[in-house]
Amino acid sequence: MTTPIPATLIPGDGIGPEIVDATLAALDALKAPFEWDRQIAGLGGVQAHGDPLPQATLDSIRRTRLALKGPLETPSGGGYRSSNVRLREEFQLYANVRPARTIIPGGRFDNIDLLVVRENLEGLYIGHEHYVPIDGDPHAVAMATGVNTRQGSRRLLEYAFELAIATGRKKVTIVHKANIMKALTGLFLETGEELWARKYKDRIALDTVIIDACAMKLVLNPWQFDVLVTTNLFGDILSDLVAGLVGGLGMAPGANIGADAAIFEAVHGSAPDIAGKGIANPTALLLAAAMMLDHCKLTDEATRLRQAIDATLNIDKVRTGDLGGSASTAAYAQALVSRI
Ligand code: NAD
Repeated sequence: MTTPIPATLIPGDGIGPEIVDATLAALDALKAPFEWDRQIAGLGGVQAHGDPLPQATLDSIRRTRLALKGPLETPSGGGYRSSNVRLREEFQLYANVRPARTIIPGGRFDNIDLLVVRENLEGLYIGHEHYVPIDGDPHAVAMATGVNTRQGSRRLLEYAFELAIATGRKKVTIVHKANIMKALTGLFLETGEELWARKYKDRIALDTVIIDACAMKLVLNPWQFDVLVTTNLFGDILSDLVAGLVGGLGMAPGANIGADAAIFEAVHGSAPDIAGKGIANPTALLLAAAMMLDHCKLTDEATRLRQAIDATLNIDKVRTGDLGGSASTAAYAQALVSRI
């Protein structure tokens, strides 16, 4: 009998519970041995406990060291701090891994197979921000501080090089803005170049590119890239861009990896505009579940899940609205289960 694997499940806000139900149906069909501990966070946490990241949720992840998470709502401007960012900090999930692979051929871009590895704990994302009041205007000036460290950069870059080599990739591209933010992103670039020359130069190719040029090149000729490794904010933006190359946010999974825990999720948010309508595309979370199976060395189940997604979308042509189809989330999940 397979040993049960304790894992935390956070259905999340908005479309979260809908896409989590679809994903659980697929994992059940695969007989994946996860023993779920259901917890809440985000807006759900605020409504139930007045806390977007309740202690019970943190305790659960501390115990299981493994979580599958639906999207969590974060208010823009004011309001509480992002539970996603807090989870990354709490469990030191320093690497955000976001693959983008064409599953449905015939779109504007075919045969895309890119991997974005984003630094997840530092940079301009750390939230050290404040306003400076002048002449009665409390928001006259806004200031933000970014922090990158050599140690944090090296840890992430090392993870990216090792992952690239282990998965048979050919090239790693460091994306930066060291011409303008000479210290903040210059340190990341310098650390990556040093590390590559010292440890990886005989094992994988290295390339470097400035973020703005990278964005243009990704739209003109994405096939020139393989693995993109970058700082927190650039990685956040670029991974949405590459998601767009493979059919949009509904197709983009992500993993947050640390030394002691890993949290798997879709790249997209809680999609409040379509929440509760039963039309959300659960593929991104399903692909995140496939990454979670890989992480747990359940490679056979991961492959079967990816093949079932492929067959449902391409052979059965059962697709949700964002992919030009008319299937509901539940109908797509049912078709997928019958392919497992
Ligand atoms: P979003 O990703 O929720 O939605 C952007 C657009 O994509 C919307 O039109 C939405 O309908 C569509 N979309 C997203 N996922 C889809 C899916 N699976 N199927 C079909 N269409 C889909 O981005 P947003 O509207 O900017 O953010 C909404 C909330 O989500 C915010 O509170 C934000 O902070 C939060 N958010 C959370 C995470 C996370 O938990 N990891 C990530 C991003 C945003």
